[in-house]
Amino acid sequence: MKVVTLRNEFHGLEVKLRPRSNGTISAATHRRARRALCPHKGCRCLSSPASGEGVLLLLSARPIYDGQSSHVVAYRLGEEGER
Ligand SMILES: [Zn+2]
Repeated sequence: MKVVTLRNEFHGLEVKLRPRSNGTISAATHRRARRALCPHKGCRCLSSPASGEGVLLLLSARPIYDGQSSHVVAYRLGEEGER
C-alpha cells in the first residue's frame, strides 16, 4: 500500500505512514503518529476534526482488538482501508 501522509494543520506537523496492504497500521505506529503530529502534553488538538484531514484519518481509525482481551493490536484506517 502506498505511503499516506497525515497532516496536523493546527501545529503544521506531518508524518508519513505505510499501511499494510489490508489498510491497517500497528498500535505502535498509531502511537508514533499521534506523537509526531502533536508532541505537546495535554494538548487536545488530536481530538478535534478541525485540525485537518490527516488528524481526521487518525481519529477515524478503528481499533482492532486481539481475541481475548481489550488490548488494541492494530488500527484500521478509514477511507483507503475500506473495501
Ligand atoms: Zn496539539
